[in-house]
Amino acid sequence: MVKKTYDAIKYKTPTGTQLSCKGWIQEAALRMLLNNLNPEVAEKPDELIVYGGRGKAARNFESLDLIIKALKDLENDESLLIQSGKPVGILKTHTNAPRILISNSQLVPKWATWEHFDELEKKGLMMFGQMTAGSWIYIGSQGIVQGTYETFGAVAKRHFSGTLKNTLSVTAGLGGMGGAQPLSITMNEGVCLAAEVEKWRIEKRLETKYLDEMIENIDVAIDKALRAKEIGKAWSIGVHCNAVELLGRLIERNIPVDILTDQTSAHDPLVGYVPHTLSTDAATVLRESDPQKYISLAYDSMKLHVKLMLELQSRGAVTFDYGNNLRARAYEAGLKNAFGFPGFVPAYIRPLFCEGKGPFRWAALSGDPNDIAVTDEVMINLFPENEGMIRWIKMAQQKIAFQGLPARICWVGQGDREKAGFAFNELVRTGKVKAPIVIGRDHLDTGSVASPNRETEAMLDGSDAVADWPILNALVNTAGGASWVSLHQGGGVGMGYSIHAGMVIVADGTDEAACKLSRVLRNDPGLGIIRHADAGYDVAKDYARMYDLDIKERLS
Ligand code: NAD
Repeated sequence: MVKKTYDAIKYKTPTGTQLSCKGWIQEAALRMLLNNLNPEVAEKPDELIVYGGRGKAARNFESLDLIIKALKDLENDESLLIQSGKPVGILKTHTNAPRILISNSQLVPKWATWEHFDELEKKGLMMFGQMTAGSWIYIGSQGIVQGTYETFGAVAKRHFSGTLKNTLSVTAGLGGMGGAQPLSITMNEGVCLAAEVEKWRIEKRLETKYLDEMIENIDVAIDKALRAKEIGKAWSIGVHCNAVELLGRLIERNIPVDILTDQTSAHDPLVGYVPHTLSTDAATVLRESDPQKYISLAYDSMKLHVKLMLELQSRGAVTFDYGNNLRARAYEAGLKNAFGFPGFVPAYIRPLFCEGKGPFRWAALSGDPNDIAVTDEVMINLFPENEGMIRWIKMAQQKIAFQGLPARICWVGQGDREKAGFAFNELVRTGKVKAPIVIGRDHLDTGSVASPNRETEAMLDGSDAVADWPILNALVNTAGGASWVSLHQGGGVGMGYSIHAGMVIVADGTDEAACKLSRVLRNDPGLGIIRHADAGYDVAKDYARMYDLDIKERLS
């Protein structure tokens, strides 16, 4: 049988004002699904892989074709059901209900292992949705770049008097998300040295201007990075090698590293992480011929990887886990002190979550970059006091090349998301943008995820593994009338380690959309504030009072 591959003509994302579906919400879902798979956006469109190891947008090409057909056929009072990337039903609901309800990669907890998932995937019964891959709101590396920029900015503030100038950051993995690291570091004026085993990934980051230079030889790369650090030049280098080799060489040469992290897809030992003992070609062969052997080599490598990170940390590098569960893999492989460095959320991000802040994003369904320029202007005018956000937007306008549909990301919180949603709806209503704007967010957000080695690591009250919150999040967004709602398992950190929810809402300029936007964009971050207030964070308690979210005040 001939293996089906991505067909660029058949799956081209529609743009403009002409509808191919029976309403703008279905149209938005269709465009965002196809946008996720656009080769400019997706890492491996031939395999339907968008990012994050094997994070897919549809289970297989047959399912993709059926989803497209179903979206075109879907009435405005019906909802399409997606079960792990496959359309399984169209049911009568009502106009204010989500048009699409998605559940991806859910397994009963005791069965939630990669081993069991792999068996089901082989039989064609499941798909890994990662976070925004299976929920159709991935916008390319920009989706992560502001969060990464803010994280490195927080590192600069905490440890290096506000700038990364004259510092060396070392990391690995230049995939869909990890590819945002070099640009985020240079935006903070630092030098980045990033190991990546696949040359085409480095080339992709060069093409999209996320990276400045590729160097094959490790020593040459180290020397060049040191020179840039010395003269205070913001510069990023992708080194074509394994992370373990780069770290090993830095230790051998006793090179001081200022900041150290990693974004290889360690959450998925079979598909996402390449052991240092294999070339990429040998890895591709062994992955198929002897997956058990592959996984065992990957675990050995990840154990050594974390050991080397701990060694560099002991020599002074500010070290943190960047949300790929690398520490847990090393721990599973027997490294007792694998959790010797913190995760990035408790270290730098949680205070933002307490204010309901997270990676809010939107895309112009028209396909016209000018529509995003109009929304940028609106954000700048709406929030003149938010200097950080304005600086970010101006920098993004200069440095971020759009991938697929023009889009923007902005970390904004309670109150502001609702204001922005209303303003965008007005832009559509008054014809200031050419077509509706689709609004969403990552599943990595304030109230939408339970992930004890990442977003909910070290919660104040020990509620790290309590997964009622993402379930409530999906339920409340469904009740509020989001355009599509998704509930996933395993994203970011791998099978069994997380449960998380996503939502997308379309501003189509109607009064009905304004009502839904007001409910959804208030309740969605609001639940995050409630979750953090419930866990005992004072800032979240203050925000809960400020935004009438405090249940005790309400009932007293
Ligand atoms: P991806 O699968 O698109 O890219 C991973 C990259 O790592 C690939 O390019 C691969 O070739 C490379 N790689 C694998 N093993 C390597 C090794 N040993 N040495 C050097 N390079 C190696 O994944 P992605 O979307 O970039 O995500 C990366 C990881 O970050 C995932 O685990 C993901 O869950 C996590 N993540 C974190 C955040 C966050 O906010 N911190 C957000 C999204 C994703």
